[in-house]
Amino acid sequence: MSYVEEVFEGLKKKHAHEPEFLEAAERVLQTIAPAVEANEEKFRSTALLERLVEPERIITFRVPWTDDQGKHHVNIGYRVQFNSAIGPYKGGLRFHPSVNQSILKFLGFEQIFKNSLTGLPIGGGKGGSDFDPKGKSDAEVMRFCQSFMTELCKYIGADQDVPAGDIGVGGREVGYLYGQYKRIKNLYEGVLTGKGLSFGGSLARPEATGYGLVYITNEMVKGAGKDLKDKVVVISGSGNVAQYACQKAQQLGAKVVTVSDSNGYVYDPDGIKLDVVMDIKQVKRGRIKEYVDAVPTAKYVEGERPWSVKCDIALPCATQNEINGADAKTLLDNGCWCVAEGANMPSDADAIDAYQAAKILFMPAKAANAGGVAVSALEMSQNSERLSWSFEEVDGKLNEIMTDIYKKVAAAAKRYGQEGDFVTGANIAGFEKVADAMSAQGLV
Ligand code: NDP
Repeated sequence: MSYVEEVFEGLKKKHAHEPEFLEAAERVLQTIAPAVEANEEKFRSTALLERLVEPERIITFRVPWTDDQGKHHVNIGYRVQFNSAIGPYKGGLRFHPSVNQSILKFLGFEQIFKNSLTGLPIGGGKGGSDFDPKGKSDAEVMRFCQSFMTELCKYIGADQDVPAGDIGVGGREVGYLYGQYKRIKNLYEGVLTGKGLSFGGSLARPEATGYGLVYITNEMVKGAGKDLKDKVVVISGSGNVAQYACQKAQQLGAKVVTVSDSNGYVYDPDGIKLDVVMDIKQVKRGRIKEYVDAVPTAKYVEGERPWSVKCDIALPCATQNEINGADAKTLLDNGCWCVAEGANMPSDADAIDAYQAAKILFMPAKAANAGGVAVSALEMSQNSERLSWSFEEVDGKLNEIMTDIYKKVAAAAKRYGQEGDFVTGANIAGFEKVADAMSAQGLV
């Protein structure tokens, strides 16, 4: 049995009740196998993989809070501090009823490699709670966030662990969490990212994931000798990532023809009018079907995702597992030749197999949506310097980082004889830096 297989067998025995984490670990371990084999003796003798797959620390705690009717509730809070070999733990907080230790370990594990790919000094972590902010009043969300931070503040800090937002944790929640941290610790420091501009947030952070996705897509397309001009792009979602991916794709001359939400999608053959989308989503907080009220020539399709629309490039920017094997086949049959993931894990395993069998350009989330965490790390730098950089400066650095990620991913794939396989390239390039730092730091 190979070293990689041995470690995975051990992991299955220890964590049989964590299916999401096991799936993520298996996929990463399989793809980094050639890089492990090249250094097998060294990695084996220092138990490097056994350490890589085990979080440095997991903190779980109860979060008691009171609703507006005076009723008491208890949720579970978590922070998975997975790997600090290359920097302080960094990764979002997710508030959603589905949150459990397995999901947070899976997300924290992936985050190690994503953060490594950015080239910035940030380790991997993830956290959250099974609390559901949907339908709660501002006062309830504030009380929950204050209770959550009362416990979490013991384990985080600007040079220790710097959480950010994720599903269910946006600007409002980050504000409440930051306020409570400052109140208890009496420290005004960059302990969270995704903050408001008035208290240490970074310009271009809202744009970062969507813009970064298009920057890396542009590099990948250029690498194949093509360009984005006049290419037809299908986008799913109409939230933060989708809106700014649409904006940057349009700025680079592409034609975006769809956006969606969880109820259905809009097809506008003349090109999506982003001002209409932003007005619906950011101002009115409405549903995407309202688009056709403003643009009657567009079509709204209820209850479906946009993958049957003919396109050159697909940018899934909504949620996990939104493209299955059948959707991938439809995309391919319609001539789609490039997929880059804005959302986390939007393509399921069958879909990825289909892209790879068809040998289309495919950039996995770990590399493609790393722009968000990269600009979060730039927010940390600005907080440490007590300075705020201009939009152009942050955006310029983001573009450089995404171009660099593309080069690293493509080079790693080529080095191991898998040219064009950016899944393998991303995992290996992310792994190499972490493995190097772990080896240098001894048995810790
Ligand atoms: P938002 O909440 O702003 O937007 C999410 C969008 O996806 C909404 O349009 C939402 O529609 C839609 N959506 C959600 N669930 C479903 C579903 N089950 N089926 C169809 N559509 C759905 O989130 P973000 O744009 O910030 O995040 C999108 C994805 O990108 C997530 O996977 C997130 O983890 C990932 N990501 C985000 C980063 C960031 O910086 N924001 C960084 C890296 C990754 P509706 O309004 O109906 O719910």
